Amino acid sequence: MLLVDVDGVISLWGFDMDRRPDGTYHSVDGLPHFLSQEAGEHLLALSDAYDLVWCTGWEERANEYLPPVLGLPGPLPYLSFDRHVHTGTTMPGHWKLGAIDAYARDRPLAWIDDVFNDACHDWARRRPSPTLLVETTPAEGLVSRHAEELSAWAAARAPARS
Ligand SMILES: [Mg+2]
Repeated sequence: MLLVDVDGVISLWGFDMDRRPDGTYHSVDGLPHFLSQEAGEHLLALSDAYDLVWCTGWEERANEYLPPVLGLPGPLPYLSFDRHVHTGTTMPGHWKLGAIDAYARDRPLAWIDDVFNDACHDWARRRPSPTLLVETTPAEGLVSRHAEELSAWAAARAPARS
């Protein structure tokens, strides 16, 4: 499966307006979001090799807004997060990890996001099944080099076909 963050991966900001990536502004809950055309095209191609799963604070709203704009098949599964779990704790962690573990169990997974911390990398190393973290920057989001890395990773793990 491929866990897909939205903000900083599909919804972009911080780019130079003179060199704006391909995409369009959309009103999401009354706020303008710039949605990357390129990210949508890469996700559509990656959906051949991966089960796409929304892994974003947008939760179910990702299905409401994104598949129609990006041309993705939808609705996709999405993770729900209990944001209260980590509030006020000094435990190292990342607010998405609990929900990912509960959903993915021991399945191999790739996760594309613009915010990974040390807890994510430790978690990925300790998982018993293959795990790939792909980090984007919010000004460009998911671009070719990320898509190529994800395609190669999936291909290397695909069952041999006779
Ligand atoms: Mg993000």
